Amino acid sequence: MSYQGYCKFCNEVINTNVQGNEIGNHECNAYLIGCEESQAITMAMRERGLNAFSCDLKPCSGGHHEWHLQMDIFEAIELTNWKFIGLHPVCTKMTLSGNRTYGKNKPRHNERI
Ligand SMILES: [Zn+2]
Repeated sequence: MSYQGYCKFCNEVINTNVQGNEIGNHECNAYLIGCEESQAITMAMRERGLNAFSCDLKPCSGGHHEWHLQMDIFEAIELTNWKFIGLHPVCTKMTLSGNRTYGKNKPRHNERI
């Protein structure tokens, strides 16, 4: 049995289970920006009228807790059928320029994601 509720990200009517969790896969009109505790991108998108949410393991420093999902990005991705997902993890240890320090067979290689 399904019920109707509202998507907590875009406020569209959705089908839910008895606990209020979305069932089905509506085309959500919300954007997810991952690895974004500063909310800089999220705020810029909202200024342009886009329904954007930030996500990070850390609390947000942008001051908009109502738009922030403090959780693992892989869990956030599963919350709805996002219209767009943008991820920009801290790349210090991931870029080619860091190979001298973090490359294969280097002492700090295990610090790479
Ligand atoms: Zn939605």
